Amino acid sequence: MRALIVADVHSNLEALEAVMTDASQREGFDTVCSLGDVVGYGPDPGPCIDLLRSHDLVCVAGNHDFAAIGKIGTDEFNPFAAAAARWTASQLKSGHVSYLANLAKVERCENFILVHGSLRDPIWEYLVGQLAALDSFSRLESSYCLVGHSHMPFLCVEMDSDVDFRSFVEGKSTALGPNRMIINPGSVGQPRDGDPRSSYAIYDNYTGTIVRYRVTYDISVTQEKMRRAGMPNYLVQRLSKGQ
Ligand code: ZN
Repeated sequence: MRALIVADVHSNLEALEAVMTDASQREGFDTVCSLGDVVGYGPDPGPCIDLLRSHDLVCVAGNHDFAAIGKIGTDEFNPFAAAAARWTASQLKSGHVSYLANLAKVERCENFILVHGSLRDPIWEYLVGQLAALDSFSRLESSYCLVGHSHMPFLCVEMDSDVDFRSFVEGKSTALGPNRMIINPGSVGQPRDGDPRSSYAIYDNYTGTIVRYRVTYDISVTQEKMRRAGMPNYLVQRLSKGQ
Protein backbone atom coordinates (compact mmCIF):
# COMPACT_ATOMS: atom_id res chain seq x y z
CA MET A 1 0.00 0.00 0.00
CA ARG A 2 1.24 3.44 -0.88
CA ALA A 3 -0.30 6.52 0.69
CA LEU A 4 -0.16 10.00 -0.80
CA ILE A 5 0.19 12.38 2.15
CA VAL A 6 -1.03 15.93 1.59
CA ALA A 7 -1.52 18.87 3.93
CA ASP A 8 -2.82 22.41 3.61
CA VAL A 9 -4.19 22.16 0.09
CA HIS A 10 -5.98 25.48 0.71
CA SER A 11 -8.31 25.44 -2.29
CA ASN A 12 -5.40 25.38 -4.73
CA LEU A 13 -6.65 23.06 -7.47
CA GLU A 14 -3.69 23.55 -9.82
CA ALA A 15 -1.31 22.56 -7.02
CA LEU A 16 -3.39 19.54 -5.98
CA GLU A 17 -3.70 18.31 -9.56
CA ALA A 18 0.06 18.70 -10.07
CA VAL A 19 0.76 16.72 -6.89
CA MET A 20 -1.60 13.91 -7.89
CA THR A 21 -0.14 13.72 -11.41
CA ASP A 22 3.41 13.74 -10.09
CA ALA A 23 2.66 11.05 -7.49
CA SER A 24 0.93 8.90 -10.13
CA GLN A 25 3.89 9.23 -12.49
CA ARG A 26 6.30 8.15 -9.76
CA GLU A 27 5.30 5.00 -7.90
CA GLY A 28 1.56 5.75 -7.74
CA PHE A 29 -0.67 5.60 -4.65
CA ASP A 30 -3.60 3.59 -3.33
CA THR A 31 -4.95 5.96 -0.73
CA VAL A 32 -4.74 9.62 0.24
CA CYS A 33 -4.10 10.97 3.74
CA SER A 34 -5.13 14.63 4.02
CA LEU A 35 -4.00 16.55 7.09
CA GLY A 36 -6.55 19.35 7.04
CA ASP A 37 -7.06 22.82 5.58
CA VAL A 38 -8.38 21.49 2.30
CA VAL A 39 -10.04 24.90 1.89
CA GLY A 40 -9.27 28.53 2.74
CA TYR A 41 -7.05 31.10 0.96
CA GLY A 42 -7.35 29.70 -2.58
CA PRO A 43 -9.94 29.99 -5.37
CA ASP A 44 -11.24 26.39 -5.75
CA PRO A 45 -12.58 25.04 -2.45
CA GLY A 46 -15.32 22.81 -3.87
CA PRO A 47 -13.23 21.26 -6.69
CA CYS A 48 -10.41 20.47 -4.23
CA ILE A 49 -12.83 18.65 -1.90
CA ASP A 50 -14.30 16.79 -4.89
CA LEU A 51 -10.89 15.77 -6.27
CA LEU A 52 -9.70 14.44 -2.91
CA ARG A 53 -12.97 12.58 -2.38
CA SER A 54 -12.65 10.88 -5.79
CA HIS A 55 -9.84 8.83 -4.19
CA ASP A 56 -9.78 6.49 -1.21
CA LEU A 57 -9.35 9.19 1.42
CA VAL A 58 -8.67 9.66 5.12
CA CYS A 59 -9.00 13.35 6.00
CA VAL A 60 -8.94 15.34 9.22
CA ALA A 61 -10.31 18.82 9.85
CA GLY A 62 -8.17 21.96 9.89
CA ASN A 63 -8.95 25.36 11.31
CA HIS A 64 -9.75 26.77 7.86
CA ASP A 65 -12.12 23.87 7.09
CA PHE A 66 -14.16 24.51 10.24
CA ALA A 67 -13.98 28.31 9.87
CA ALA A 68 -15.37 28.15 6.32
CA ILE A 69 -18.53 26.43 7.58
CA GLY A 70 -18.90 28.48 10.76
CA LYS A 71 -18.04 25.59 13.08
CA ILE A 72 -15.35 27.78 14.68
CA GLY A 73 -15.06 31.57 14.63
CA THR A 74 -12.50 33.61 12.72
CA ASP A 75 -11.52 35.81 15.69
CA GLU A 76 -8.04 34.27 15.77
CA PHE A 77 -7.59 34.66 12.00
CA ASN A 78 -5.67 37.55 10.48
CA PRO A 79 -7.86 39.82 8.31
CA PHE A 80 -6.70 38.15 5.07
CA ALA A 81 -7.54 34.67 6.32
CA ALA A 82 -10.90 35.86 7.65
CA ALA A 83 -11.75 37.45 4.30
CA ALA A 84 -10.80 34.23 2.53
CA ALA A 85 -12.96 32.21 4.94
CA ARG A 86 -15.99 34.40 4.18
CA TRP A 87 -15.42 34.05 0.44
CA THR A 88 -14.95 30.28 0.78
CA ALA A 89 -18.24 30.02 2.69
CA SER A 90 -20.02 31.69 -0.22
CA GLN A 91 -18.64 29.11 -2.68
CA LEU A 92 -19.39 25.84 -0.90
CA LYS A 93 -22.37 23.70 -1.88
CA SER A 94 -24.37 21.88 0.79
CA GLY A 95 -22.55 18.60 0.09
CA HIS A 96 -19.20 20.29 0.71
CA VAL A 97 -20.47 21.89 3.91
CA SER A 98 -21.73 18.60 5.33
CA TYR A 99 -18.51 16.84 4.33
CA LEU A 100 -16.37 19.43 6.14
CA ALA A 101 -18.72 19.54 9.13
CA ASN A 102 -18.36 15.80 9.67
CA LEU A 103 -14.56 15.65 9.46
CA ALA A 104 -12.94 14.20 12.57
CA LYS A 105 -10.12 16.07 14.29
CA VAL A 106 -8.02 12.92 14.63
CA GLU A 107 -7.93 9.89 12.33
CA ARG A 108 -5.84 6.77 11.92
CA CYS A 109 -4.35 5.25 8.76
CA GLU A 110 -2.22 2.13 9.27
CA ASN A 111 0.21 2.97 12.10
CA PHE A 112 -0.12 6.72 11.55
CA ILE A 113 -2.28 9.07 13.58
CA LEU A 114 -3.41 12.03 11.46
CA VAL A 115 -4.07 15.48 12.92
CA HIS A 116 -3.93 19.02 11.54
CA GLY A 117 -2.22 20.85 14.42
CA SER A 118 -1.19 18.72 17.38
CA LEU A 119 -2.63 15.97 19.56
CA ARG A 120 -3.14 18.47 22.41
CA ASP A 121 -5.05 20.91 20.21
CA PRO A 122 -5.83 19.32 16.82
CA ILE A 123 -7.26 22.45 15.25
CA TRP A 124 -5.12 25.33 16.46
CA GLU A 125 -1.72 24.37 17.89
CA TYR A 126 1.32 24.74 15.64
CA LEU A 127 3.57 21.78 16.30
CA VAL A 128 6.86 23.64 16.27
CA GLY A 129 9.47 23.31 18.97
CA GLN A 130 10.46 20.77 21.57
CA LEU A 131 7.68 21.28 24.14
CA ALA A 132 4.82 20.91 21.67
CA ALA A 133 6.46 17.82 20.18
CA LEU A 134 7.06 16.21 23.59
CA ASP A 135 3.43 16.82 24.52
CA SER A 136 2.15 15.21 21.32
CA PHE A 137 4.44 12.19 21.79
CA SER A 138 3.01 11.78 25.31
CA ARG A 139 -0.48 11.51 23.78
CA LEU A 140 0.49 9.46 20.71
CA GLU A 141 -1.01 5.96 20.80
CA SER A 142 0.79 4.78 17.69
CA SER A 143 4.25 4.77 16.15
CA TYR A 144 3.92 7.77 13.89
CA CYS A 145 1.98 11.01 13.72
CA LEU A 146 1.30 13.10 10.62
CA VAL A 147 0.66 16.84 11.05
CA GLY A 148 0.18 19.93 8.89
CA HIS A 149 -0.84 23.49 9.84
CA SER A 150 2.60 25.18 9.93
CA HIS A 151 3.16 24.59 6.18
CA MET A 152 6.76 23.70 7.08
CA PRO A 153 8.07 20.22 6.28
CA PHE A 154 9.98 18.40 9.03
CA LEU A 155 10.74 15.08 10.67
CA CYS A 156 10.66 15.00 14.46
CA VAL A 157 12.16 11.87 16.01
CA GLU A 158 11.54 10.77 19.61
CA MET A 159 14.87 10.14 21.38
CA ASP A 160 14.56 8.76 24.94
CA SER A 161 12.95 11.70 26.76
CA ASP A 162 13.84 14.29 24.11
CA VAL A 163 13.03 15.02 20.48
CA ASP A 164 15.18 15.71 17.44
CA PHE A 165 13.79 17.95 14.70
CA ARG A 166 15.37 17.09 11.35
CA SER A 167 14.92 18.51 7.90
CA PHE A 168 12.66 16.38 5.73
CA VAL A 169 15.00 16.42 2.75
CA GLU A 170 13.35 16.44 -0.69
CA GLY A 171 13.71 13.18 -2.59
CA LYS A 172 15.53 11.31 0.19
CA SER A 173 13.91 8.08 1.35
CA THR A 174 13.56 7.84 5.14
CA ALA A 175 13.10 4.47 6.82
CA LEU A 176 10.49 4.48 9.56
CA GLY A 177 12.41 2.67 12.27
CA PRO A 178 11.78 1.85 15.92
CA ASN A 179 11.88 5.47 17.08
CA ARG A 180 8.50 7.16 16.98
CA MET A 181 8.16 10.13 14.64
CA ILE A 182 6.03 13.18 13.98
CA ILE A 183 6.09 14.09 10.30
CA ASN A 184 4.96 17.20 8.44
CA PRO A 185 4.95 16.79 4.63
CA GLY A 186 4.81 20.57 3.97
CA SER A 187 1.96 22.32 2.17
CA VAL A 188 0.45 21.51 -1.20
CA GLY A 189 -1.37 24.77 -1.81
CA GLN A 190 0.52 27.46 0.08
CA PRO A 191 4.12 26.48 0.98
CA ARG A 192 5.79 28.75 3.53
CA ASP A 193 9.34 27.44 3.58
CA GLY A 194 10.59 29.83 0.90
CA ASP A 195 10.00 27.36 -1.95
CA PRO A 196 6.79 27.98 -3.92
CA ARG A 197 6.63 24.44 -5.30
CA SER A 198 3.98 22.15 -3.84
CA SER A 199 5.24 19.78 -1.17
CA TYR A 200 3.88 16.30 -0.41
CA ALA A 201 5.00 12.86 0.74
CA ILE A 202 4.52 9.22 -0.20
CA TYR A 203 4.51 6.43 2.37
CA ASP A 204 5.16 2.87 1.19
CA ASN A 205 4.20 0.21 3.73
CA TYR A 206 6.04 -2.51 1.79
CA THR A 207 9.43 -0.82 2.15
CA GLY A 208 8.49 1.00 5.37
CA THR A 209 9.78 4.27 3.95
CA ILE A 210 8.52 7.80 3.46
CA VAL A 211 9.76 10.26 0.82
CA ARG A 212 8.94 13.92 0.36
CA TYR A 213 8.66 15.38 -3.11
CA ARG A 214 8.14 18.82 -4.61
CA VAL A 215 6.44 19.67 -7.84
CA THR A 216 5.98 22.87 -9.82
CA TYR A 217 2.54 24.00 -10.94
CA ASP A 218 1.28 26.99 -12.91
CA ILE A 219 1.03 29.48 -10.05
CA SER A 220 -0.10 32.25 -12.41
CA VAL A 221 -3.34 30.37 -13.19
CA THR A 222 -4.23 30.13 -9.49
CA GLN A 223 -3.26 33.75 -8.93
CA GLU A 224 -5.45 34.96 -11.81
CA LYS A 225 -8.43 33.06 -10.36
CA MET A 226 -7.76 34.66 -6.97
CA ARG A 227 -7.62 38.14 -8.48
CA ARG A 228 -10.90 37.56 -10.31
CA ALA A 229 -12.47 36.40 -7.03
CA GLY A 230 -11.32 39.63 -5.38
CA MET A 231 -8.95 37.90 -2.94
CA PRO A 232 -6.52 40.13 -0.98
CA ASN A 233 -3.39 40.84 -3.02
CA TYR A 234 -1.20 39.67 -0.14
CA LEU A 235 -2.62 36.15 -0.51
CA VAL A 236 -2.11 36.25 -4.27
CA GLN A 237 1.51 37.38 -4.03
CA ARG A 238 2.63 34.98 -1.31
CA LEU A 239 2.11 31.97 -3.59
CA SER A 240 4.98 33.17 -5.82
CA LYS A 241 7.28 33.56 -2.85
CA GLY A 242 6.46 30.39 -0.97
CA GLN A 243 5.99 32.40 2.21
ZN1 ZN B 1 -3.04 25.83 6.55
